[in-house]
Amino acid sequence: MHHLDPKKRRLAIIGTVLAVCLAAFFLAIPLMSGLLAKLVPQSIADKVGKQVIESLAGNAEFCTDPEGTKALDGLVDKLAAAADHDVPFRVYVVKDDVLNAFAAPGGHVVIYEEIIENAADPQELAGVLAHEMSHELHDHPTKGLVKTVGYGVFSLLVPGSGELGGQIGQAVIESKYSRDDELEADRGGVELLNAAKIDSHGLARFFDTMHDKGSDVPGALEFLSSHPTGDHRQGAVKDLERDGDEAMTAAQWQALRNVCKSHSKTPTPVG
Ligand SMILES: [Zn+2]
Repeated sequence: MHHLDPKKRRLAIIGTVLAVCLAAFFLAIPLMSGLLAKLVPQSIADKVGKQVIESLAGNAEFCTDPEGTKALDGLVDKLAAAADHDVPFRVYVVKDDVLNAFAAPGGHVVIYEEIIENAADPQELAGVLAHEMSHELHDHPTKGLVKTVGYGVFSLLVPGSGELGGQIGQAVIESKYSRDDELEADRGGVELLNAAKIDSHGLARFFDTMHDKGSDVPGALEFLSSHPTGDHRQGAVKDLERDGDEAMTAAQWQALRNVCKSHSKTPTPVG
């Protein structure tokens, strides 16, 4: 029988306790990601968000037509003013023939041209936008960031950590939200539309139409699988849907549909 002397034994116990604490510390990340997300400074979230946006420039361009971006900017402002928040929203339209939209950390929201092309009216586009803005309002992108890299997120405070930011940004793009987060973004999005007095039937209608079109639209199935609140979403938000104003005038909608008439490699938010 081998016995440790008391001193070594004490060290072993302390070591074990530390190891258990450390394990708990890391295992707690998914559970505490919501709380931790609130501790991530806006400067870090913004840094990762910008990296995500810049990484898109590799194989796509940003739409810049002045009339179109002005129309979208007006809608973003209306929704942002209706939200009780301090998120500095920056919305980009990306020219790439895939149906997609997502929210990156720090208030950066990306809408792909295909979303605008497939939306039947401005209320549907406003619905997708409100859904993504609602992800931001609920800290979901930063929560995803914390889940992906854990406490390593705080290493981004170190100057010169840009490359790390890029890798983290990529991981964030590939991470998916939970079903609960998607439901929260759906319901929050409809409430945001209501607060802005915009007809809020468009959100569920757009996702339902895309679901029905399915594989006819490139990327639609993948987009829907990353936004999993059920095969048909109307049920999840029906109790909240309200009539309201159109999201923009016919002339503004026409301008927005032409927003990719001019485009640039430089990430350009609307406004
Ligand atoms: Zn979503």
